[in-house]
Amino acid sequence: MPSENKPAINGESFALGSERSVIREIFEYGNARAQLVGRENVYDFSLGNPAVPTPECINDAIKELVGDSSFNVHGYTSAQGALPVRESIADSIRGRFGVAASADNIYVTCGAAASLSVTLNAVCSKGDEVIAFAPFFPEYKVFAEGAGASFVTVLPDTDNFQINFDDLEKKLGAKTRAVIVNSPNNPSGAVLTKNTVLRLCAVLREFCQKTGNTVYLISDEPYRELVYDGKEVLYFPSYYENTIVCYSYSKSLSLAGERIGYIFVNPAVTASRDVYAAVCGAARKLGFVCAPSLMQYAIAKNPNAVSDISVYRQNRDMLYNALCSFGYDCVYPDGAFYLFVRSPIADAKEFCERARALDLLLVPSDSFGCKGFVRISYCVDGKMIERSLPLFKKLIESL
Ligand code: PLP
Repeated sequence: MPSENKPAINGESFALGSERSVIREIFEYGNARAQLVGRENVYDFSLGNPAVPTPECINDAIKELVGDSSFNVHGYTSAQGALPVRESIADSIRGRFGVAASADNIYVTCGAAASLSVTLNAVCSKGDEVIAFAPFFPEYKVFAEGAGASFVTVLPDTDNFQINFDDLEKKLGAKTRAVIVNSPNNPSGAVLTKNTVLRLCAVLREFCQKTGNTVYLISDEPYRELVYDGKEVLYFPSYYENTIVCYSYSKSLSLAGERIGYIFVNPAVTASRDVYAAVCGAARKLGFVCAPSLMQYAIAKNPNAVSDISVYRQNRDMLYNALCSFGYDCVYPDGAFYLFVRSPIADAKEFCERARALDLLLVPSDSFGCKGFVRISYCVDGKMIERSLPLFKKLIESL
């Protein structure tokens, strides 16, 4: 007989579901605080929820599709995404990056979270290791462990937020199955330079040749288009054959709540048909088949659309310039919409507590695998940033 006190549930899932992510906890605190003191008095820099509007062409496409009675836009599509949708995405990849891509290399997903979970489940077996570079998106650990792999982290390069190659060489081993890269990066805003990309690909290629292992490079790219000052974001499939791209439209089209993205299995991947079949199988296993159909077709009509990111650049400039002038030590963000600031006191959590007392809601960097920093998400209304600046000044002067 099941005991009342001992529910028949999976312990690992219970633990994950019972502890909220640090970011979500701060976000919920902000909502509760706004009820008490008014939304305009809470400066919530916690979440990466895009603030700029979705492009008109996407909204128009959604309206047209909903009014189109010639086909069932709300029906199931193929598990891997409707063929015309995958063709449109593949055309866009060929056109923008000059990489051979066809519909058969694309699996449409419910955003980057699903892309990553599916890809890791497709390539990893129990006992494999997945490497990520600190600072990293905290959910990588959950996704890697959910795929039965161990999560291994490479120490951060806190000078330039590129890659600590000395530590990478130590961490690569017989069990390494995948390395996750994320450029532009959450939380540092750094973009990997051409030198870094070439060196990483060379290190991985040499390692694979020497050991006979296959190491996949999983490129997590939700921020690909969010890049400023004409900086280039190199396309890993052009430089490393065994690359699988995990893409999302959450940030580039401000569609985070609609859950849409894709996996691109580079046709140059070793035995790419088998890897693609494993992607299909992993999506089936996880129940991630047939991504939202209305969004699929809206994307297919506008595969190259991007939100107006000039707003983020203005926010970045305002925040970065002001915080530096107050004496904060900030990483200059070339992309994404996060400012990574060195905590003026040793304990970043304590610094965030002090900020919270002024209703400035910041995220300590500990959960990103890199202590001593705070993340400020600037995909918010520029007026809120403007009003928050005196508080940032007061905060550093109070230390
Ligand atoms: N990867 C990174 C680096 C992210 O920052 C996020 C979301 O913030 C995701 C993946 C998940 O994105 P999605 O909303 O498309 O699932």
